Amino acid sequence: MTSADLASLPLDGQLAEVLAACGRNRERDLADLFRLLAQPSISAQGIGVDECSELVRDLLERSGFAARIMATPGAPVVYGERCNAPGQPTLLIYGHYDVQPADPLEAWDSPPFEPTIRDGRIWARGVADNKGQFVANVLGARAWLETVGELPINVKVVVEGEEESGSPNFPAFVAANRDLLAADLVYVSDGQVFETHQPIVEFGNRGMLYIELVAHGPSRDLHSGNFGGVAPNPAWTLVHLLATMFSPDGEILVPGVLDAVRPVTPELRTALDAIPLDEAAALADIGLTEKAAPKDLPYYDRLMVRPTMNIAGFTSGYGGAGSKTVLPAEARVKMDLRLVPNQDPAVIYDQIRAHVAAHAPGVEILHHGAMEPVAVALDSPLAAPVRRAVEVGFGVAPVDVPMVGGSLPSAVWPKELGVPAIVVPYGNADQANHSPNENMITERFYAGIRTSAALLGAMVGQNRQI
Ligand SMILES: [Zn+2]
Repeated sequence: MTSADLASLPLDGQLAEVLAACGRNRERDLADLFRLLAQPSISAQGIGVDECSELVRDLLERSGFAARIMATPGAPVVYGERCNAPGQPTLLIYGHYDVQPADPLEAWDSPPFEPTIRDGRIWARGVADNKGQFVANVLGARAWLETVGELPINVKVVVEGEEESGSPNFPAFVAANRDLLAADLVYVSDGQVFETHQPIVEFGNRGMLYIELVAHGPSRDLHSGNFGGVAPNPAWTLVHLLATMFSPDGEILVPGVLDAVRPVTPELRTALDAIPLDEAAALADIGLTEKAAPKDLPYYDRLMVRPTMNIAGFTSGYGGAGSKTVLPAEARVKMDLRLVPNQDPAVIYDQIRAHVAAHAPGVEILHHGAMEPVAVALDSPLAAPVRRAVEVGFGVAPVDVPMVGGSLPSAVWPKELGVPAIVVPYGNADQANHSPNENMITERFYAGIRTSAALLGAMVGQNRQI
């Protein structure tokens, strides 16, 4: 980062002071993070969640935010705001204070709730997922307050306590607090960068539809010699049905499912091709030398452009040791479809249901859940200040990631608030979240604080065009 680059940012003089302050507060910033890390907050087991929510509220208050704990039917949400910049945009920061269970404890090199620094990394359960990331956002704002006396834009912070349990109460919380949470941009620091450690800006994630198909045969499992040829086999019914749904060429065949898939624009093509990739290494890592059909489709198009239709599990008859000559009474297949913009899981479900009714009328279809895909346009005016902030914070220009392959409930932001969400992961590629020895490279925590501080400066005057 050169001083010329810094000068291109709004409020450049003030921001330079703020960034210098970030550098002077490293010990205290780390102590604030460690206080949260030392508090277990395992939503799955109900351990320490309320205690942690109080620590988060305290951190927000000590950082200059008006903060409170808000009840939900599950773990509480912590909300803080400092909105003293009339006419300026409002940034809504989202994070979660709950963590995954730490088991197996014996696999940790140091106790999961005794944060420690080793080899240039902070080691603790939840340091990357997500305490170290949302704390960095809060501390970036604090640097403004302590240096300039006020934030340059309006900032709201919402930290939930059930993300690791699937956020069962969060969408309803957002829907019930639309005015409170109103903002121009939702900013989320969660997840991790690629192996190259280059910072990234994520613009969306795939959605998902999870279904189960159930084929029924005879009223009970039968002797395949005494009844084979007489009774229809429901496993074959499903196999034949599945063959009408997905081709050997890797194409989804259910009519209508691909209709809403966006064409690859030149801008999207450029972004996809710019994402770092060692394809051979990525495949070798999962024990493969070739990708699924169609072979010529580029790697990231598979994760960010095309939907999938995955068989997650197929159950019928006998799969145990030795042989059992059985003609099964029932066959079941569980399937997840990863959806891309602008596919609507409700529409896709109806299309599959119609297809099943046409090809195998006796087969039952069950709906096990759905998440909508979400994507912010790469040329969104709000992306520019985010990219600039990341470049200031990390000293390297970020890579645009149009979509991540996994599914998150982030459609809640555009759906309930009408606000786009952009994700900037501060975590390292080998953060081992959800695993033993979760860690965050210490300098990435500090770069996250600088990025967050720079974002507040870069957002000045960037009110969303409605
Ligand atoms: Zn997680």
